[in-house]
Amino acid sequence: MLNGKVAVVTGGSRGIGRALCISFAKAGADVAFLCRRDSEEAAATREEAGAAGVRCEKYICDVSDFDEVKAAFEKIIAEFGTVDILVNNAGVTCDKLLLSMKPEEFDRVVKTNLYGTFNTIKQVYPIFCRKRSGRIINISSVSGIIGNAGQANYSASKAGVIALTKSIAKELGPRNITCNAIAPGFVETDMTAAFAASDEILKSIPIRRFARPEEIASLAVYLAGDDAACITGSVFTADGGLTCR
Ligand code: NAP
Repeated sequence: MLNGKVAVVTGGSRGIGRALCISFAKAGADVAFLCRRDSEEAAATREEAGAAGVRCEKYICDVSDFDEVKAAFEKIIAEFGTVDILVNNAGVTCDKLLLSMKPEEFDRVVKTNLYGTFNTIKQVYPIFCRKRSGRIINISSVSGIIGNAGQANYSASKAGVIALTKSIAKELGPRNITCNAIAPGFVETDMTAAFAASDEILKSIPIRRFARPEEIASLAVYLAGDDAACITGSVFTADGGLTCR
């Protein structure tokens, strides 16, 4: 389905990002993924995605740093030739009430989640425009749609990702480039490990469970495929019914 395509995934070492790398690889795409640390987890992603018979390489890079992102993409282009699909998945939380949130804690979350998305889109923008094709998929969150107490920094960053997504969709639609967002609810990853067992949370989710990372990844693969060519500027909630009204 994505044979011959090159997908770049940020935050590919763990959680949803690892599932994205593996799912894109299984769909036939070569995968370049970014992560902050050179960890055993990153090596495991590379091995698991590579086992699908495609090329998979990791690039250590802080997505919040424009110059590091630029350098990483220069390497990726040199090694893979091009980029066809960009998935902005790298993200962090630093949850606390606004009263005790330090400016640097607001900054760090917004810099990673929102500026990080801007930084990577800047790298593929001219390439996609030249080719008159390209797919951008940004991982937002339901917190960016409905807000969440204790997550002012995170929610603001993820709402920003949604507005960025819609703006890019309008800007690049005429060039045959699509840009969509996925807004997960609770997903089984390190990010939610601290409260995975709470009955109260499970009761608030109609399907009574967290999503699995692969379930988010399969939606991203769909959005990157030919069948999704007319879908752009959309936000897909994948939250087990958590926020349905
Ligand atoms: P995770 O398990 O905590 O993994 C985070 C990933 O992002 C790791 O690969 C990490 O790399 C990378 N990363 C963090 N900061 C980075 C930076 N500055 N530069 C480069 N890479 C960085 O997270 P997850 O739960 O899979 O979440 C993935 C995305 O889904 C995030 O955007 C998150 O906000 C969103 N999301 C998650 C949930 C959920 O319930 N889990 C719900 C809604 C939305 P290292 O391994 O090197 O640290």
